[in-house]
Amino acid sequence: MFGLYFTNCNICFKSSSIYDPINESSRLARLFCDKKLPVMEFLDSHYPDKPEDPYPSHFIAGTDESNLVPALRWIENETNMTIERKDCYDGYLGSMEVDGSNVFVDWVKKNQIQAVRTGNCCL
Ligand SMILES: [Zn+2]
Repeated sequence: MFGLYFTNCNICFKSSSIYDPINESSRLARLFCDKKLPVMEFLDSHYPDKPEDPYPSHFIAGTDESNLVPALRWIENETNMTIERKDCYDGYLGSMEVDGSNVFVDWVKKNQIQAVRTGNCCL
């Protein structure tokens, strides 16, 4: 199985005239969703009392900036989509649950993923 994961497509990221990661992520997600292949988005989301050093406060949970950019919100309704809100820069570490399980590892196992295509909305 081939899967797609991409990260940090939060609302504050914008495309530029040089590179358009949001539309590229949307295009890739559409290709995977049309084929019902598994897609995972690591969405940055932090609690105000848990800073992510050395970065300034960003993507505070519950605010609009912690949500997907409008151009990608259609993926929230896709049946093959998994959205994981992470609280650190690393999607793998941010997928750790208190019981020791890992949402990313479970996604790979459940979908029997052997290869992934990655994407990122950070500029
Ligand atoms: Zn962050």
